[in-house]
Amino acid sequence: MQIIRKTMKIRLTKKRQEILNVLKKHHGTLSAKAIHEQLLDIDLATVYRSLDLFVKEGLIAQVPLGGDETQYEYQVRPHHHAVCTDCSKVIHFEVPDKDIKKLLGLKDFDIEKIEMTVKGSCGH
Ligand SMILES: [Zn+2]
Repeated sequence: MQIIRKTMKIRLTKKRQEILNVLKKHHGTLSAKAIHEQLLDIDLATVYRSLDLFVKEGLIAQVPLGGDETQYEYQVRPHHHAVCTDCSKVIHFEVPDKDIKKLLGLKDFDIEKIEMTVKGSCGH
């Protein structure tokens, strides 16, 4: 997978840096509310606004897990997710984009991004 390193256009204020650090340390997905719980001095609206900005800048990913709360994740490498519908456990897995593209066989379509969320049961 080609990794494009973008130059950061946004100014990382202290608050934004703190929000980003919570996600970096977590190694998984978090909702805005869960981040806010760790940073109570930063109001929830600011957390939401910062997360939106980070997603637009490609610093973090908005992960479509299908729950009530939008999930955000700092991804060292882009990857996909499998969610257990019984216990909500999330498994993070990688599949090369080229393999998925081959399988999809979409002609005359320029794929920019592939996000996969697989649902099932982990059996525990
Ligand atoms: Zn993940």
